[in-house]
Amino acid sequence: MTAPLMPSSYRGTLRDRLRLWGRSLSRIVEITIMTFMVVGPIRVIQWHFQHKRQRGEKVILRSPYAPAGAVPADQLAQIAPHINGPARKSKLMKRESYPKPEYHFAFRRVPLSGNVINGLGETTKRQPTPILFHVTGQDSQGWDTLDQYLRIKNTTLRVLRLMVHMLWIGRESTGPIAPIQQPIADPAEMTTQVKATARDLGAILVGVTELKPTQTFEGSDVPYRYAISCAVPMDREEMLLAPSAATAGAIFDAYTEAAVVSTELAKRIRALGWGAVSTSTVMDKAEIAHVPIAIAAGLGQLGKHGSIITKEYGSNVRLGTVLTNLPLVVDEPLDIGVDDFCANCQICTTNCPPQAIFDTKQMVRGEEKWFVNFDACFPYFASNHSCAICIEVCPWSEEGRGASISQKMLEKRPQPST
Ligand code: SF4
Ligand code: SF4
Repeated sequence: MTAPLMPSSYRGTLRDRLRLWGRSLSRIVEITIMTFMVVGPIRVIQWHFQHKRQRGEKVILRSPYAPAGAVPADQLAQIAPHINGPARKSKLMKRESYPKPEYHFAFRRVPLSGNVINGLGETTKRQPTPILFHVTGQDSQGWDTLDQYLRIKNTTLRVLRLMVHMLWIGRESTGPIAPIQQPIADPAEMTTQVKATARDLGAILVGVTELKPTQTFEGSDVPYRYAISCAVPMDREEMLLAPSAATAGAIFDAYTEAAVVSTELAKRIRALGWGAVSTSTVMDKAEIAHVPIAIAAGLGQLGKHGSIITKEYGSNVRLGTVLTNLPLVVDEPLDIGVDDFCANCQICTTNCPPQAIFDTKQMVRGEEKWFVNFDACFPYFASNHSCAICIEVCPWSEEGRGASISQKMLEKRPQPST
């Protein structure tokens, strides 16, 4: 018996539809407030930031984190970049030079180091802790003010428009489940249909994994067994202008596309009578870690720059995830030779202006892995319309190169003797 074909969606009972209208109405109110009340003040604050910069003054971020002396100094963020490290600009990148890692903000109280929050040096496995997005009741440990500075300073009309679009899509990230649950006699056939549907909707890569506690953030409650990871591409031409407003626009374009794909896929699964929610990076509170899920679902491997590397598109992708209990067949993680290549490559480390990328694997929450110094990366990212230099200089991100790099790396490995 084959799995039922995926229906387009289930609109629910009158009560469900009223609920959706209610959510739509509240989104319209939020969007109207955002458009008329926020755009104006943001422009004024941006103008204020610019004036401070011209006068050589810093914006003081009034972080509520611990007063001086309450936390050992070596646990606090060290945002001054390692400017003495090697810095080299790739010829691929289109900007004449990268902006220097000089910041026009200062913390009133320095936040707890992002590396401490992320578990650098910890030898026991544990769930990751959210830093930039709130999980209800959790402390942001001082970084939210820099996140807000980033959002205000760097928001362009294009990014605002895309955020409004995501807000609108997000009203259907969850919704009514069809009352009659379709029996799934053949999970393999169902998985094929789910992947084909995700591709029809615009995903370029799709994989399935069983959700593990270490892929969800502390404090989250995720009652689903499976995660379907969907990747969408970013506009390479705009990404090569990193860091810039155009790059931030391209990143938000891809996040919006990922939200469209995952939300529509979740709706179609709910129409089969199975629970499903869509999640994407920008608009959600942090409940799941998209990159480890995508890696476990066989989309690619972790690169030295801390992002996923896929064979087909390198790191030039963004992710959306659907969480569901629909019975599916999981994919195996891939080995495409990323570790072998990264071990002898320093392109991202030498191109990163604040020298944030560790050249060797680090012990992080009980696992040896590539790691990026949060305290060095995020201030640069926040000051420059997001960054993404490291993922665009990566050779795997060059069109058509990933498959041949992977083949060479795997062929170079010593073959087992027969
Ligand atoms: S630039 Fe080189 S070292 Fe960095 S992630 Fe890509 S392959 Fe690995
Ligand atoms: S995004 Fe990459 S290149 Fe940019 S600061 Fe962070 S690690 Fe460095």
